Amino acid sequence: MKNIPNVMIIFGGSGDLAHRKLYPALFNLYRKGLIADNFAVIATARRPWSHDFLRGQVKNAVNETCEQIDAADLDRFATHFYYQSHDVTHVDHYIALKQLAQKLDEKYDCHGNRIFYMAMAPSFFGTIATHINDQKLLGTGFNRLIVEKPFGRDYETAEKLNQEIGASFDEKSVYRIDHYLGKEMIQNILPLRFANPLLKNIWNAEYIKNIQVTLAEKIGVGTRGGYYDNSGALRDMVQNHIFQIITLLAMPAPKNLTSDAIHEAKQRLLQGLQIPSYDEVSKSVVRGQYLASEHEPAYINVDQVAPDSCTETYVAGKVKFTTGPLAGVPIYFRTGKKMLEKKSRIDIVLKAGSDLYEKANENVITIEIDPVSKIVLRLNGKEIVGTGLRIEDLSYAFNAEEMHQVPDGYERLLNDVFMADRTNFTHWMELAQYWRYIDAIEAAWRKQNSMAIKPDQYLPNAFGPNAADNIFENADSYWIYR
Ligand code: NAD
Repeated sequence: MKNIPNVMIIFGGSGDLAHRKLYPALFNLYRKGLIADNFAVIATARRPWSHDFLRGQVKNAVNETCEQIDAADLDRFATHFYYQSHDVTHVDHYIALKQLAQKLDEKYDCHGNRIFYMAMAPSFFGTIATHINDQKLLGTGFNRLIVEKPFGRDYETAEKLNQEIGASFDEKSVYRIDHYLGKEMIQNILPLRFANPLLKNIWNAEYIKNIQVTLAEKIGVGTRGGYYDNSGALRDMVQNHIFQIITLLAMPAPKNLTSDAIHEAKQRLLQGLQIPSYDEVSKSVVRGQYLASEHEPAYINVDQVAPDSCTETYVAGKVKFTTGPLAGVPIYFRTGKKMLEKKSRIDIVLKAGSDLYEKANENVITIEIDPVSKIVLRLNGKEIVGTGLRIEDLSYAFNAEEMHQVPDGYERLLNDVFMADRTNFTHWMELAQYWRYIDAIEAAWRKQNSMAIKPDQYLPNAFGPNAADNIFENADSYWIYR
């Protein structure tokens, strides 16, 4: 189905995100016939580019990322792009932007529909939202706002930003984007849980012992030391990606598969999110900083990182709910830079228990998200020789051809915005709860810093600080991926 006509305004149109993700994603939608011909994109940034220069950049971006490009298709696509030199802090610049949007609206017959995309440093989000409102940039049709992460740096700043945005956009028009929700295996969690009685019936505290979510990165902070030192792994990865995954794993069954019903089920779960006390943080949250490797300095020696920085490049912790089918079940998470390999996976550990076989192992269901998409069931089987049990893995993996068909997360999510499908975007009520949890840990860490308790140092190319092995409630639990 082709989406409805619109003028899209991208703030940050010369940036990395626009180049690597947004332009290729829009092109893929265009050539699949999912974007109507009556659309225009206005890219804005401070540089004095011309429309033609932007179109050249858009073509470069598409050529660098997409395959099997039809040159005529790409030429046609690029004609829909317009550039407006615009400093988001200058109020008068919004007047020129508004005029261009109106002109393009008429030219492409866009029915007054606008999509605004904030693809810039988050410190500008509030300013842009305020000026969209006071300079009356809204169109006469629908108005939708896409906001990149991070949405605030704690509950207070997130709430302030939400209010600034709220002056122009109601909750139903705000699309807080988290590209993890566009990933194939993340979108597979609900069908797996609710379309298979095999899993649906054991998805509760009676059978599940714990869940482990690992998002490991192989790279360090590289040249982004200045940005990263202000953020850290907890804000950068846990507040959004990890919490979204945990929410999908632990939420109760939605009444149906509409966006509203799914968000309602998520919020029912999150009302029972346990906010950790200082003592709980000390016991079950571990933070770390990577040491030097052969070719890269230790985190604290990275350019623009304070030498006495306490910012964590690794964090492991525990989430628990009093609500939902997994009430009381510990959900462990860890994420870090400079780990052994890039890997995103979920391990669901079932309680061991067999009246007949004393030595039965725990069943484990593994959902691997990156770098490959696969699901593995670890089962007990009979030893060929002898009377004991051996572990067997049943694997359901996507083949190379199937993997090739998987659209990029941004492609899926942009299409969702066109189609006004908010299922895979973060609702404010969800985000607010995530921040409350993050704030509690940040507060505990500030207290630890004041007592000179620093992050643990960890060796690169491994699994992070050893202390993370001791956060489990049960003495016999361990990280399945190790
Ligand atoms: P970037 O620094 O590459 O781009 C920033 C853009 O903002 C540039 O176009 C720049 O010219 C413009 N800009 C800066 N100051 C301006 C001003 N005063 N007025 C107008 N324009 C101005 O940043 P990015 O990597 O593209 O990231 C953008 C957003 O996307 C951030 O919120 C980031 O967290 C998020 N994000 C980026 C990626 C990625 O892969 N790059 C991935 C996920 C999320």
